[in-house]
Amino acid sequence: MAVPKSKITRSKRGMRRAHQALEAANPAECPNCGELKRPHHVCPSCGHYAEREVVAIANEIDFDDEDAA
Ligand SMILES: [Zn+2]
Repeated sequence: MAVPKSKITRSKRGMRRAHQALEAANPAECPNCGELKRPHHVCPSCGHYAEREVVAIANEIDFDDEDAA
């Protein structure tokens, strides 16, 4: 197993960790429903991408035909 040759000082450790902060997301408005969504991702609220529907959203599907049982 590789073993560190010497102790990492608090200073060097801090310099390394200075670049590890999380960056905030950059949400954009969906052109279809106006909800905030991640850029270059399908809108989770309406299932649209590039102004056309690509994913059917569950609460928009009509299940009434299967209620006979
Ligand atoms: Zn949308």
